[in-house]
Amino acid sequence: MDIDFSEINYIKDPTWQDIHADYEQFLLSMTGPTVIDVSGKNQEKYRVFTTLLHGNEPSGLIALHRYLTEVVTQEKPITNLRFIICSVEAASTRPLFTQRFIPGGMDINRCFGKQCSFQCNEGHRGYCQRASLIEQAIREVNPEMVIDLHNSSSPGPTFAISAFVTTQSLSLASLFCQTLILSDLTMGSMIEQDFNCPFITIECGGCQDEQAHEVAFSGISQVAHCESIGYIHQEKPVEVIYRPLRLQLKNEAKLSYAKHDEGHSGVTLKDNIECFNFGSAHQDEMLGWIDGNGLDNLQLIDKRGDNVLDEYFYTRENQLVCRHNLRLFKATTNKSTAINDCLFYVVKLSQPES
Ligand SMILES: [Zn+2]
Repeated sequence: MDIDFSEINYIKDPTWQDIHADYEQFLLSMTGPTVIDVSGKNQEKYRVFTTLLHGNEPSGLIALHRYLTEVVTQEKPITNLRFIICSVEAASTRPLFTQRFIPGGMDINRCFGKQCSFQCNEGHRGYCQRASLIEQAIREVNPEMVIDLHNSSSPGPTFAISAFVTTQSLSLASLFCQTLILSDLTMGSMIEQDFNCPFITIECGGCQDEQAHEVAFSGISQVAHCESIGYIHQEKPVEVIYRPLRLQLKNEAKLSYAKHDEGHSGVTLKDNIECFNFGSAHQDEMLGWIDGNGLDNLQLIDKRGDNVLDEYFYTRENQLVCRHNLRLFKATTNKSTAINDCLFYVVKLSQPES
């Protein structure tokens, strides 16, 4: 598919014709990244939502469509809202909402805040351009907050991610969920950018999960009707989790999922690995199996760029075993997400807070 990376479309106060009857038609009516502005009671201020950075993560778009059809028609938001729908081409690739990015393309949420680097060969250059267009669409309205809506590939609870823990980020997170992950990973994602305002990412839950769409809708509606971002009453306590790391395959190691040890080469994760998203993995608990290369199949890179895999895992014969009580996020059996992004995010439990 030929993508025009310089394209970005603007719609102000969309009409019935713009919104269409359902969110799939709404998506298919767009040709590229689309900015939708909704006028609020106070026209001076903007609150920004971004969504569909990943084409297979529909909750934000579904919720936005529902908000535009059911709520805006009844009541204007407190401030102007700007919704930015990003990877329209990937999401529209059939079957709809199945591609994180278009085949042969690149994950745009690894392309923010950078000049095209060595990673960007000819065919990939446009993704950095698009990332900077999206960034510009955020900055040009000088927003009082930004929320980026995502889904996990696999079922899991909703959580928020932020580069800072502030009263405001905690309050905003509480409109969606009860967990905020402080992340200082630098991988070119949007969350690392500084927009001079509170900015959180929401992982709404599994991409197929109605509940995830509901969480996104309820959160958007609450943000839209909240008088002041600075004084949100935090209804529920939000737990803060500090600095998870990403477990990744190394050296193009192979990845499989199985119930039992089937002697595959590379790494085999238990096929129920997603269950760990809802609880924790205990010290000495096994998560899968590895071949003769042992832990060398995997890497867990910390902020300094060191591989700290040994501090989290060990091998027991050919089993991959937790060295501590661990909390896992975004564990998935979606092989392409696992290979392109990571097997899961992990944090040691009861580590000293810093
Ligand atoms: Zn995502």
